[in-house]
Amino acid sequence: MTTPAKTPGKYAAHLTYGVPSAAPEGGIPFWEIFPYEGELSIKAIEDPVIPEPPRGGEGGRECGECARGDDDGYVWTDANWRLSARREPEALVTLLLTPRGHYDSGDLPAGLSAELGPVMQRVENAMMGLGDIARVHMSKWGDGGSHLHWWFFARPEGLMQFRGTCLALWGDVLPPLPRELWEESLASIASQMTATGGETAGQVV
Ligand SMILES: [Zn+2]
Repeated sequence: MTTPAKTPGKYAAHLTYGVPSAAPEGGIPFWEIFPYEGELSIKAIEDPVIPEPPRGGEGGRECGECARGDDDGYVWTDANWRLSARREPEALVTLLLTPRGHYDSGDLPAGLSAELGPVMQRVENAMMGLGDIARVHMSKWGDGGSHLHWWFFARPEGLMQFRGTCLALWGDVLPPLPRELWEESLASIASQMTATGGETAGQVV
């Protein structure tokens, strides 16, 4: 065990720093949902960085979401929310839901927090409405940008290996969807969302 340059906090003090370790027997690398196989080891844990560097939108760094400005290129928008996707096809239909104003989850005004659940439900239902989708998974990470962004991932029906927490990892390693299907899917989501309010710029990819 090496001594980290910074003193870890109490939830990180029990870890071993600086040396790789073997994957635990029966751990997630051995589960059917894990996308990789072969001999695996766990990376050496790097020293803590305290204080952490600012995220996008903090400490004088530009917020990428706020810098996008107008609603061009969004799949769907309304007075308080914007829904986006990458312009290039991805392996999974993947969307990002953000508040129009610069808030994170901890300082989201109560009125927007009350709207969030119903909006997330609409996004989920629109993705399920594409057909051939078994489940929509959602996540909120926020280590890169401080502007709240909820991820939505559509799991293709029948692909049982894609269940659960590894879905996003699969999305990173699989070939992208055909462009035509990608564009049709985003157009369908835009249409389904606007059917219950809000609008679309009409040019989402
Ligand atoms: Zn922002």
